Amino acid sequence: MNLSLEAVDPQGISPETALEILKASPEEIYSLFPLTSQLREKYFGKKVKLCSIVNAKSGHCSESCGFCPQSAHFKETNVETYPLMDADKIAHVAEDSWKNGSNEFSIVTSGYGMEDGEELAVIEEALQQITAKTELDPCASLGIVSIETLRRLKEAGLVNYHHNIETARSFHGEIVKTHSFEEELQVIRNAKEVGLNVCAGGIFGMGETLEQRVEFVFEVKKIDPASFPINFLNPRPGTPLENCKELTPLDCLKIIAISRLAMPAKDIFVLGGREVNLRELQSLIFLAGANGTMVGNYLTTAGRAPDETVRMIHDLGLEIVAAHHVPNPS
Ligand code: SF4
Repeated sequence: MNLSLEAVDPQGISPETALEILKASPEEIYSLFPLTSQLREKYFGKKVKLCSIVNAKSGHCSESCGFCPQSAHFKETNVETYPLMDADKIAHVAEDSWKNGSNEFSIVTSGYGMEDGEELAVIEEALQQITAKTELDPCASLGIVSIETLRRLKEAGLVNYHHNIETARSFHGEIVKTHSFEEELQVIRNAKEVGLNVCAGGIFGMGETLEQRVEFVFEVKKIDPASFPINFLNPRPGTPLENCKELTPLDCLKIIAISRLAMPAKDIFVLGGREVNLRELQSLIFLAGANGTMVGNYLTTAGRAPDETVRMIHDLGLEIVAAHHVPNPS
């Protein structure tokens, strides 16, 4: 593999090259790190973005996504379930995240979507409080919502809408049994149409082939989101994927590298499953090309303490992007 900056930037590598990288030896992967780091530095300098989330409504979900312990279809997951938090509590978690160095904050809820008027009003109130009290870029991940709902959320201060396509189109039906790939795409199109930034990605290590990993990355490239959030499966007890342990730390680094090389200028975040899948190689995500990660807890599992993630970034000589949204004092 002999790739140069001129050959990959800005158009990115081909799917064939991406597949070759996924099959490469450890030495070949290490030899790509100068290029993936160079691309990250070209577009983001030394800056790393940190996002955090609140699981604002947990469990009892009507949907069946094979990786998710919040689905009501899977009975023995022992996940904590609760109804939608109130706006004050959501805003309080956001303030804590801001103090921990986060610059983006996402309100995440379980369920197909969020069309209940009362619940939507709580989210709007939370967004207003977050934009008034912090400099965070507010994000929401509320499932498959209508374009009208997205408009309302934007008016309430939403900046980013997060929605994962989960995996490759050819593998989606194996994992998600209750809604279609097309429904996932439509909400992303709608969010773009109302002027929201889109964060769209999914989960690797769910039994997909190497070809499907490439298909997934290039499907995301086609969507052209502002950010590509990469998750690595952390198998949850009681879900159909509880015994699915497919990824090595090097597999994870290869996935990050092909993502950076396919989409040189995109925000690439490494989110769920970072600790358990990368283990001691976590800090190499930035050499492989990521320019963002998460602080604090994931949806249903605990993450590293925020100060450990912050220290890892500083130890690498990188800097955390300061939150830049100007608080709205109204
Ligand atoms: S991923 Fe979302 S939609 Fe799917 S089961 Fe979990 S909470 Fe429900």
